[in-house]
Amino acid sequence: MAMIQIKNVTKKFGSVVAVDNLNLDVEVGECICLLGPSGCGKTTTLRMLAGFEKATEGEIWINGRLMNDVPPQQRNIGIVFQDYAVFPTMSVANNVAYGLKLRGVHGAERERRVNEALELVGLSGFGQRMPSQLSGGQLQRVALARALVIRPQVLLLDEPLSNLDAALRVSIRKQIRQIQQELNITTVFVTHDQEEAMSISDRIAVMKTAKLMQVGSPMEIYGKPKSAFVANFIGKTTMLKGTVRSAAGDHIVVRTGDFDFTVKKRDEVKPGTEVWMSIRPQDVQYGSETGENTLTGTVDYLEPLGAVTRGEIKTDHGFSLMFEIANPLYSRVPNLKEKVSMSVGADRIVYGVMTASDHDVFGELEKGA
Ligand code: ATP
Repeated sequence: MAMIQIKNVTKKFGSVVAVDNLNLDVEVGECICLLGPSGCGKTTTLRMLAGFEKATEGEIWINGRLMNDVPPQQRNIGIVFQDYAVFPTMSVANNVAYGLKLRGVHGAERERRVNEALELVGLSGFGQRMPSQLSGGQLQRVALARALVIRPQVLLLDEPLSNLDAALRVSIRKQIRQIQQELNITTVFVTHDQEEAMSISDRIAVMKTAKLMQVGSPMEIYGKPKSAFVANFIGKTTMLKGTVRSAAGDHIVVRTGDFDFTVKKRDEVKPGTEVWMSIRPQDVQYGSETGENTLTGTVDYLEPLGAVTRGEIKTDHGFSLMFEIANPLYSRVPNLKEKVSMSVGADRIVYGVMTASDHDVFGELEKGA
């Protein structure tokens, strides 16, 4: 049985639907990320799991117990917030001990568990410090120790890394993942950062405007997006719209601008259907004049990022394609305005039938362009 079961849960604030008929199971020991843009309902979902908000409809089960009417303090849940929420006038040890005190754990046992939790997060010896004497990363590890010391059945983290600088975010997310795996603790992690979600999760639940769009392992979500929104939200990609011209055999042909893309068939589609296509920059073979889907164009933009140089080619067919050159120090990188040719493997193009929600995504992309 799953540790967490969210069954047909809807949350309304007046006329605002913050979460719309959500169904999601989280297995024992699994780390799942709720990922999506601001306002999509991630925090509200987490707050319902914690018991700070009541579901308007539906059921939340944790470890086989219906939680809808169980108050937060009786749910045995550890929570870490974005802003640390440590008590500024208490020492680190007293902050960590707080939950144990409330649960009637005293004396040597309490001290032992506090030390154990501090060691787990790499803060042994910091117990007597005051929060004002700690860095942001250390404060967040105190918050994590405080959540873990009560040995919760579930750990909830709400954007725990967003107040930290980029390097610290990477190092603390690694620590959180290692601790989560070591303790085999069922974890729900809220973030709007797709790289963070990819790096830390067993599965990602992608949300958009109160709805769950797709759940899957990080590479499933990246490689087999089921909607234009998920394709575009996870990683860099070029999104194109086109019309299916033929769909016989193993391939379909999709007209975009004045180009006919040959695309490996994944799902059945009928000629005349409007589809979205996603082409990852690393799948555009720059400089290739042979192979499938050979196009010509002009380099319009270049972005040296160190490990890769990313750029955009304005094709001669009425659309642009992002491309990427790996290891640019040792590879030929084109110049701006250079005329180039490129190809895209038919099996590298992901597509789906356009829905109203996909049209919205293209509307947003066009606004942003
Ligand atoms: P963010 O990443 O910005 O924190 P989120 O995905 O966590 O966003 P929520 O905070 O869950 O989104 O909010 C979902 C929707 O519900 C938003 O439209 C928000 O304005 C609304 N909402 C959240 N809390 C309340 C509240 N207490 N009263 C009214 N509306 C609310």
